[in-house]
Amino acid sequence: MKISEIKTYVLKAELENHGFGWSQRVTDRRQTAICEVVTDRGISGLGEAFYFGGPADIAAAIMKDALGPLLIGKDPFDTCVIWDSLYNYTRDQGMKGLTLSAISGIDIALWDIKGKALGLPVYKLLGGAYRNRARVYATGLYEPQNASNIADALAQEALGYKKEGFTGMKLKIGYGIRTDLKYIKAVREAIGEDLYLMVDANHAYNAAEAIRLAREMERFDIYWFEEPVPPEDVDGYLEVKQNSSILITGGECEYTRYGFRELINRRAVDILQPDLCATGGFSEMMKIIAMASAANVPVIPHVWGTNVGLAASLQLFAALPHFPERRFPQEPFFEYDRSPHPLRQGVTREKFVTEQGYLKIPDGPGLGVSLDMDFIKKYTAR
Ligand SMILES: [Mg+2]
Repeated sequence: MKISEIKTYVLKAELENHGFGWSQRVTDRRQTAICEVVTDRGISGLGEAFYFGGPADIAAAIMKDALGPLLIGKDPFDTCVIWDSLYNYTRDQGMKGLTLSAISGIDIALWDIKGKALGLPVYKLLGGAYRNRARVYATGLYEPQNASNIADALAQEALGYKKEGFTGMKLKIGYGIRTDLKYIKAVREAIGEDLYLMVDANHAYNAAEAIRLAREMERFDIYWFEEPVPPEDVDGYLEVKQNSSILITGGECEYTRYGFRELINRRAVDILQPDLCATGGFSEMMKIIAMASAANVPVIPHVWGTNVGLAASLQLFAALPHFPERRFPQEPFFEYDRSPHPLRQGVTREKFVTEQGYLKIPDGPGLGVSLDMDFIKKYTAR
């Protein structure tokens, strides 16, 4: 089997009610870059490149125009060989960021092809399923742009997740310590004591601010504090971790085994959060997980994007080991983005629905999803 063509789809949609905000900015639109790797045997695979903020057109151009020509004629089963060649080709200027997102999208598509060719779900090729369903937490609780009282609006949204059966949720913070505490209090009081509550500052603070906030947040029983400081500030991460009783997490802005090496070796976080669609796809993610497992640092992947990225992340999640293995292991949480996204469900014919706080992991060949081409055409950016 040989790769014969690379197709990309850039989709864009505007959000209602002026969109939503977080500690870094406000967005009024969603977009995505999906790739389809076609083979001469009639089997094609799907992948999605993580992007946020940057135009999805760039990720698509890297997949199709920069990397695509290197793939033509290659055997899609040679995933590690192809990965190393693509990375090395772009290494001098592309060790992190959108280039890696593009490589991730292509790598995911190759694994989809392998699964479809063998008639097996990708998780089987990754080593098998530790679980066949994913306990999800709701990622939402962004800053609404049309609310007169933001704390009240967040409390209402949080209650909605509780009613839907979610057992955990993540609140965006990083607006300043006093504002953060007001939102945290509102959400915790709304959902009660039993549910897990995580917070995510999207690297808004320096270490001193983050430590002060972590101490103030302890009384609200926060499960983890995500990206307290900028990703480059590894010493800051260590300082916060050493001075916080709340678990410190990070890694969605880190890439490849080379990038994660320092976070793992220095034990900079309590939980690593690489994103499958950014850090290098399945091929690279399995290496990062192996490194983390050797250091006994838990991995709970960051998940974002449409149903294509979600389906791929669920395959990975099935094959995610325990940290550590034991008789009654801690079941990891799966990130389930609930923020407004007009493109998320429509891109695939298959739809994802939670049942009592769980998502079923598809067991069809490959990623287990296929594109809805009518929807794709409707939202394709011109
Ligand atoms: Mg985050």
